[in-house]
Amino acid sequence: MKPERLLKHEFVEFIPDQLEDDTIYVSIPYATVTHKCCCGCGTEVVTPLSPTDWTLTFDGESVSLDPSIGNWSFDCKSHYWIWRDRIYWAERWSEKRIKHARLHDLHSAKKRDEETRARRFWRRIREWKW
Ligand SMILES: [Zn+2]
Repeated sequence: MKPERLLKHEFVEFIPDQLEDDTIYVSIPYATVTHKCCCGCGTEVVTPLSPTDWTLTFDGESVSLDPSIGNWSFDCKSHYWIWRDRIYWAERWSEKRIKHARLHDLHSAKKRDEETRARRFWRRIREWKW
């Protein structure tokens, strides 16, 4: 297991093009948090903030993100929590759990889209020529 590492956080308006290692960039205006994958592979991880995505907690000194960061779409498939500017490594998820989590992601995206779909559906019904 990799040791827990201390991160820095920076509140920015725009996420910079060049991300520094071990830095969490927080953009409140755009409700987005971006950092480089903590395993060292350098892949940019973008975590949107919303009630159905991630939640950011700033306690005045450090930031925490909830839920965990699961990079199963990257080669490294790293999985960790960012809590109080620290990385806590989770065990590598099994394929089965990854699949399950992906389904869960899909489900919440679907839920978010449900209203739009319903509206479209009823419009189609109304426009139906009998
Ligand atoms: Zn990685």
